Amino acid sequence: MHLPKYTARVSVVVASFVVISGAVYQQLFKMQEDLKSKTVRETSESKLPSEVEVPSKILTESLCTHFYQTVCLSNEVVSDPTGSVQPDIKGEVEALRLYEMILHQHPNWSNEQIDEELVSRIYTPRRKKMLLEIYDWIQKQMIKLIEKQPEQIIPKASKNELTRRLKHIVLEIPPPTSLYANEPDLFTKNDVYYESFPGEKRVIRVGGAYLLSAKSWFNRVFTIAHEISHAIDPCELEMSQIKIEGYRQLLQCFQNEKVVGPNRVENGCSKNNYLGELFADWLATQITVQALETYSSKFKNNEELSYSVVNSVKDLCNQESWLDQNSESHPESKVRIEKVFGRSPQLRALLGCFEQGQSISYCTFEGKR
Ligand SMILES: [Zn+2]
Repeated sequence: MHLPKYTARVSVVVASFVVISGAVYQQLFKMQEDLKSKTVRETSESKLPSEVEVPSKILTESLCTHFYQTVCLSNEVVSDPTGSVQPDIKGEVEALRLYEMILHQHPNWSNEQIDEELVSRIYTPRRKKMLLEIYDWIQKQMIKLIEKQPEQIIPKASKNELTRRLKHIVLEIPPPTSLYANEPDLFTKNDVYYESFPGEKRVIRVGGAYLLSAKSWFNRVFTIAHEISHAIDPCELEMSQIKIEGYRQLLQCFQNEKVVGPNRVENGCSKNNYLGELFADWLATQITVQALETYSSKFKNNEELSYSVVNSVKDLCNQESWLDQNSESHPESKVRIEKVFGRSPQLRALLGCFEQGQSISYCTFEGKR
């Protein structure tokens, strides 16, 4: 079992929606207040130390020179050609407002009817179709990436095992509402997570609030690709005692290049899922950059490209506030956004970054490149 990528930052208990009384309204009110105070806080905290050069506009050049700052230190929500990425809390507030509205419109409905209506309004056929298409596309790209590795890096038998695992994941998206019967509050949360069960069952679930806050196709590609990657991450493989040379070289490279601290690789997955999370970010990066490349001919200008790149990982900027007790398992957001995503040579080539004679090293299954 893996920790969710998103751990809900706001503890909203709407479980089973049995008695609605004032509780949900109070939660909704609290969330709106949180949202207001968060906006104020962000504005005042967004002042930067004077030594940090802040790009005034999101341009490809500023992504090349200050990737993390450009993505994260602006509170501006940008729209790429496929959509935007709002702060997580906005999605949660919107989901609860929808819930409240349904309740007002249908005071005599049963809890099940209210849940079904909420699900039908959030998990629309269009959104569901989009998620399933993204999932299929990612799965194909991942299998291709694995298949093309040299035999000494990932032997044929290992390729078969990795492919088999990838093909066995089920993306569970309601309706039916009963799909999340043991987790009814997921409809109003931002959580997107992967979970493996005994007997080879592997599922990915997507919280309703995530669909309302993250509309950018590129963000959905990164997010779903990250979760799919967990089916073949090094910690998952370690549990099944599978060792692959390409994984060894990739993790060793992360250590040599100081993407991870000195003892992380030696400690393996015994203490936490850190290496699994790092791997999932790395593989999601490979897939998201392919998505950006595939889409690149449709970008009308550099701004559309820049905004799409920013939106791919924008929601990782504020993870510290919602990871809490799980923070040990995830690399810090600067590592995820800049060292793993922002340094991808293909991404930098797409952005047209000029490397000034020194190529940036990047880790692959074959070690440093
Ligand atoms: Zn993860």
